[in-house]
Amino acid sequence: MSINKEKYTQLLKELNGKATLVAVSKTKPAEDIQALYDLGQRDFGENYVQELVDKEVALPKDIRWHFIGHLQSNKVKYIAPFVYLIHGVDSFSLLKEINKEAAKNNRVIDCLLQVHIAKEETKFGLDSTELSAVMKEKDGLKNIHVVGLMGMASFSDDLSLVREEFKTLKHLYDQYPDFSVLSMGMSGDYTIAVEEGSTMVRIGSLLFGERNYPVK
Ligand SMILES: *Cc1c(COP(=O)(O)O)cnc(C)c1O
Repeated sequence: MSINKEKYTQLLKELNGKATLVAVSKTKPAEDIQALYDLGQRDFGENYVQELVDKEVALPKDIRWHFIGHLQSNKVKYIAPFVYLIHGVDSFSLLKEINKEAAKNNRVIDCLLQVHIAKEETKFGLDSTELSAVMKEKDGLKNIHVVGLMGMASFSDDLSLVREEFKTLKHLYDQYPDFSVLSMGMSGDYTIAVEEGSTMVRIGSLLFGERNYPVK
């Protein structure tokens, strides 16, 4: 078992209810998730559909599973029966697909729209113009509920850059009074994210140790 209990306790104390902790367990075995569950953790984040589906079957039913990876439309159906929150929605067509699969399951699925805030070219996400377009288009969709925004800052030692990116996301978030979830902050930058208004942090390596294989 390789979870860091001290770090977990310390993190909860630090977050102090200001932000929800999503424990990012991608690539980590079910035993590690169970160990954190036994300490009281219920929100877990995964990036890969097949891995999430396997873990959902193996682990306690009251876990709230967050899908935080890049979701392909043809895989929505596998997670639609149980997923708690989908963080990375970056197109209207994906939102439509989630709506369709949610309806089949008699569910309303909560979603976050992913906004591109990093200077890096490789990150997924909407820009502010696309965001407002999707926010208008989504009105007919009855089986999804867009509850907020998600973003990833640049992987950079330049902390003022990271802070600026989080500020940009918070500013967009504030334009939509109905939003309640601002998902920003990872192991390396969650302190800044919380200072800038994050309500949900996604933390993996601090809790579970470094991952063995690279992650998209
Ligand atoms: C892997 C991942 C995380 C967690 O990253 P750590 O640096 O290990 O905390 C958070 N968000 C997303 C979208 C991820 O893919």
